[in-house]
Parts: sequence; C-alpha cells; structure tokens
Amino acid sequence: MKIRLIALLVITPLLLSSQLSTSHAAAKAGAKCSTVGVKSVVGTKTFTCVKSGKKLIWDKGVNKATLIPKTREEKAFELVRAAYLAKPAYKAPITYVVAEKSNQSFFQIIKTGTEASAKFFQNYYKPHSELPFIMADGVDIEWMISNMSKYGFEMDHWSRGAFKSGWGNAHTNSKGSILVYTGMPSTEKNIYAFGNLGFGVHEYFHVVTAGILGKESKFGEVIPRWAYEGSASFFGNAIAELLPEKGELDMWQKTRFKTFTKSMRYYNVKERVPVLHSLSSQQLYNTFIAPEIDAGTCPQAYCYTAGELLTEVLLADYGIDKYFSWWRASTNTPWRSAFEKTFGINFNQWLAEVGILYVMEEASKVYPEQPANPDYKKKIEFTKS
Ligand SMILES: [Zn+2]
Repeated sequence: MKIRLIALLVITPLLLSSQLSTSHAAAKAGAKCSTVGVKSVVGTKTFTCVKSGKKLIWDKGVNKATLIPKTREEKAFELVRAAYLAKPAYKAPITYVVAEKSNQSFFQIIKTGTEASAKFFQNYYKPHSELPFIMADGVDIEWMISNMSKYGFEMDHWSRGAFKSGWGNAHTNSKGSILVYTGMPSTEKNIYAFGNLGFGVHEYFHVVTAGILGKESKFGEVIPRWAYEGSASFFGNAIAELLPEKGELDMWQKTRFKTFTKSMRYYNVKERVPVLHSLSSQQLYNTFIAPEIDAGTCPQAYCYTAGELLTEVLLADYGIDKYFSWWRASTNTPWRSAFEKTFGINFNQWLAEVGILYVMEEASKVYPEQPANPDYKKKIEFTKS
C-alpha cells in the first residue's frame, strides 16, 4: 500500500499537468475537449468545454476584454460608450451661421461633434434658447466680430490676436451661449477628422458646463481650471471615438477617420509630456495645489493633458453622474469641500494618493521614449486642504 500510494502521488500531478497543457493547446471553437465545464484562456478569449450531442467540444468563446474593462482608461471609456448608446436622439436649438468661404467638410465635422455632444449631455443640460454657432473659417475678422455682436458678444483680446491661426470657443453671458470657430482657410488635406470631431464635442461641452454651473468657469470661478479643460478634453476624445460605431459619419469623414484615442493621447502627451516627465511626483503634486493651476493661465500640459487624466480616473472610480454631482455641489460651496463631500476623500489626499500617480503612470506609458524623473512614483507628502 505504501509504495502504491507514493506512486500515485507522483503520477497524479504529471497526469494533471499533461491534461491541462493538452486542453490549452486544443482550445479552439468546435475542437474536442475532455471535461465538461473546464475553461481555457487563449489570447483574449475564454473557451468553455461544453457537451454538444454526444461529443464534448470547446464553445465559440467569450472575448473577455470586451466584457471586463481591464484598466481605468478602458473603464472610463466603457462608461461613456454605454451612456452614449443609451441616450435618445436629441436636436439642440443650434443656429448655424457659417461664412460662405468656410470649408464645408471642416464645418460638417465640427457640426457632427457638436451634435453628438448635445446628445450625450442632454440630461445634464439643454440650451433653453437659441444657441448660435458661428464659423468664420477663412474670412475676415470683421465678419466674425459683426456676427458675434448680433448675438451680444464681443471678441476678446486673445481671440483677436489669434484669429488667423484659428480657434474654437464657447462663451456664455447672462443671456445665453455662443459657439465660435475660425481659422485659416482649410484644405481638405489638412483637416484632422478625429481631432475636429473632438473639438466640436469639447466646445459644446463648455456650454454644458456653464449650464450646469449657472455661469462660466473658465478660470476657476466655480470648478478648478484642470477640471474645466481636462473634462472637455476627455469627453471630446471619448465621444469622438464613438461616432463611427454609430454610423454618424458620412463617407468623407469616415475615410479620414482613425479610431485612436490612444494615438491622440500620444500626440497630446508627446507634446506636453516633457513637462510632466521632468517632474517628480512631489513636484507635480505641488504644482497642482498652486492657486494658478485652479484659476490662472494653467499651461496645457497641466490643465488639458494631466487634467484629462485626472478626469478619467475620477470617472473610472466614481462614475459619470457622481462626477457631475461634484460640479453641482460646487455651485454653492467651494469646490474642495464639495469634492470631499461627494467623493468621501480630501482633495489633496486624493491627489497625492491617486490622481498624481495615475497621471505619472499614464504619461510614462504613452511616451516611454523619454525616461521619467527617477522620483516620479515616490510617495507624496501632503497636508489636507
Ligand atoms: Zn476648452
């Protein structure tokens, strides 16, 4: 008995391991398997051994990656996708005022992004009166100034200076909002479909933001500037990526479209990451708690790129509705207290323990060519705000 027992103990693991490796090698839809209920993972697919008639075969498999988002980036995107698909059709009261010379394809792309944004955010905000959309692509600054003034808006100093190089903007005053776009005459060749779809989503989202907050908050008046620009960048990219799935692009747009949140981010981060990469985690934290990040002329690397990542991680961890309930709570209490009340954690603590780390890790992932600061992952010292 003793000898047999030893022999069994030795043989059993051998048998088990050979069975496992055999079934893994054979896991292919329709191929034979040996034990009902056994699962085998091949690549991103999980196959299950099922009984079919008298035979045991591997089923067609489930693509795990599409069911369970693995990263926070995927989780946040999945939330946006599910919300977008669940929204009913909606037509915002937008009046298009487009200069004759404007490039029609450029206009159509921005319009598609704008209307997708209106659909997505309809349960957070709907314009209650006419929303003028003015495009002066390729025309005189005077045309734009006079059309803006018809709706009670003046062109600010910055916009005048940058008129020729092009911009898009959303403005809100006590009477309503306006969307404005300008630029050099565009040729079809250099119109970047994905970026411009996101551009349309982004600027309309600023109208939504003013609607939710009850006033504009471009420079930290209600919410910090990184949340203002970072969320617009996040939703711009995420919603633009969804559009081809829904067939909402015409052929011209489709041929110029690539689904690439990642490469868009790569482009963003590549331009701006040297700033982020040059810092230690502590330095980035210190930058983010400085008052000029909330309210001042926050550089794009911080308020657009890092701000987009901070928005992404908040959405992934707490969901879209909770994110906006933080904004709503900020309308009658300072945003830091509203943050703590909404998410149950002090803002500085969250930034030190979650936010900055996420920005640092994502930045080094998308742009590994540049080595990160050796202290980019170091534990951050913080005092509660
Ligand atoms: Zn913006």
